[in-house]
Amino acid sequence: MNETVSSIPLLLPHSSMSTESNKTGSWRFLRPLYDEKTSPCSEACPAGEDIARIEMLTAQGLFKEAWETILRENPFPSVCGRICPHPCEETCNRREFDEAVAVHTVERFLAETASRYDLKPNLEILPSKQQRIALVGAGPAGLSAAYFLNCLGYSCDVFEAATEPGGILRWGIPPYRLPLPALKNDIAQIESHGVHIRTGVHIGREFLQNAGNDYDAVFFGCGRSRVTELGIPGEKANAVADGITFLKQIRQGEI
Ligand code: SF4
Repeated sequence: MNETVSSIPLLLPHSSMSTESNKTGSWRFLRPLYDEKTSPCSEACPAGEDIARIEMLTAQGLFKEAWETILRENPFPSVCGRICPHPCEETCNRREFDEAVAVHTVERFLAETASRYDLKPNLEILPSKQQRIALVGAGPAGLSAAYFLNCLGYSCDVFEAATEPGGILRWGIPPYRLPLPALKNDIAQIESHGVHIRTGVHIGREFLQNAGNDYDAVFFGCGRSRVTELGIPGEKANAVADGITFLKQIRQGEI
């Protein structure tokens, strides 16, 4: 008798019981659960950089992509690659094996590579919004705020009383720790995003009274340039200088 393929009954193995009854071991019914967590180094980083990704991209030679990953969280890779006390390395798991991954040095390397090859980051910037924001102070706080607000589509003007932007980074850190070109690289990068910096502008009552006409919000990042006195005898003696004044004098080559 001729039997066509379609007439052959389809038999499928079927069990109405759990595969657990097969006694074949837990591998038959258990699956690993993948749960992505923030790495200890990223958790320790004040800027919250995605360090695992940065290291992975760097290891693959994708330096521009690694640098862009830093810029998503931190507009100051040249600065932080030099002066950050790198708490990220304190929590690195690799220390249990031999020594921490040199996250800080890698950050500096990526910033220097971007500068050497004049790389332009390809970051997502949201469409322009109508609102304009004034930021008072071109130190790390004012410039970072302007950078991220700009990424969100806001038009930002930064006003700085000093003749150059940078705040404490420019005036309070000796050049052997933070060379001026490194700071300028990061500031140029922030400006290239469309942040406008106006120096030599003292913000007073008049500006604030009129700010409502020109701006939708004002951010104050004036810094902490006043010293905290220790309240100990001799602190006002001629030969004694407070820390900020001392650092400024070094920066300006007076010491
Ligand atoms: S060195 Fe860089 S990654 Fe490490 S804590 Fe500082 S800013 Fe974050």
